[in-house]
Amino acid sequence: MSIATTVHQARRPVGLPTPEDFAFVRGPLPEVGPGTALVENLYLSVDPYMREAMDYQGWQGGNELGTPLEGRSIGRVIASKAEGLTEGDVVFHRKAWRTHALVTPAEAGVLPGWEGVDIRTRLSLLGGTGLSAYVGLTQVARLQPGEDVFISAAAGGVGTAAGQIARLLGARRVIGSAGSAAKVRHLVDDLGFDAAFDYHDGPVGAQLAKAAPEGIDVFFDNVGGDHLEGAIDVLKAHGRIAWCGAVAQYNDLKNPPPAPRNLYDVVSKSLRLEGFLVREYNHLQGELEDFLVPHLRSGALKADETVVEGIDNVVSAFIGVLKGENLGKMIVAL
Ligand code: NAP
Repeated sequence: MSIATTVHQARRPVGLPTPEDFAFVRGPLPEVGPGTALVENLYLSVDPYMREAMDYQGWQGGNELGTPLEGRSIGRVIASKAEGLTEGDVVFHRKAWRTHALVTPAEAGVLPGWEGVDIRTRLSLLGGTGLSAYVGLTQVARLQPGEDVFISAAAGGVGTAAGQIARLLGARRVIGSAGSAAKVRHLVDDLGFDAAFDYHDGPVGAQLAKAAPEGIDVFFDNVGGDHLEGAIDVLKAHGRIAWCGAVAQYNDLKNPPPAPRNLYDVVSKSLRLEGFLVREYNHLQGELEDFLVPHLRSGALKADETVVEGIDNVVSAFIGVLKGENLGKMIVAL
């Protein structure tokens, strides 16, 4: 008999989550009732925002203890009593961190599949990760050809997407920061960044000023804190900040970093700082696919991913993302 495994949040973490904050719950496969379909998951997404969801007073009120975290997944329908979902369909849904999910047609969308492109990409470049990068650059920062861009957490999922997309949109110089020398090398040698630095090697502002002596037009921020402060120092007048995330503070939301201390320069430099949530831009999913799929097929664009195998490793993969153990988008393959 097949067994279904579900990963529940067992307690509220203090700081960086630990394995004890989760529980692996095993049981029989869910029964397929009228109007539902059973999906065997193939890939699960682990994302920094899930850390926010683990806090009681955090993201959207917090995840209920004893339940799995909400999150993006790809799976195959193995039984169906639901109209529009057929055995064999590969679907996208948001009932993450489990081997099997019972879904309704409203909860699961059949994926079209793109010839020559791995379906897993729907969790990285062709999913919320790539869409965040695309929206931040095109809708929020409104990047223009010939402009210079700085991206923080540049070697992560959103960062590697943003760097490559910025180049495709005609950016002049693309600069990134990341947490290790190996990541810095990867950005420059494999992904075509013009310059990159390890933020552990010195103040972000000073390192960025060296990498971008003429200043930057756009800052795509995934980190917040010292990165935001450093970028405000180096942005040219009328520069734009697309604020995507603040991973530097997710483990302790109640005690955010003291930076940026130069926020008033937003006024003196006539900067525009705009935060955004990708879920408000889901209507651009088709546009993202139309833009990126040809580049993925031609090899001009790389789906940068770290793939960890097995449901038993989902928690360590998640903690790994928060600790910077991933290159590109972290995905768990089942
Ligand atoms: P990711 O960048 O693949 O993984 C997180 C990375 O953050 C780690 O690899 C680590 O890399 C870096 N990091 C961790 N702690 C840090 C710290 N204290 N200072 C600097 N860097 C640190 O994750 P992602 O899924 O692509 O998400 C990136 C950001 O985008 C997150 O802030 C996320 O919340 C945000 N996001 C926002 C939206 C939205 O709708 N606004 C949607 C998706 C994602 P290093 O080795 O470089 O430290």
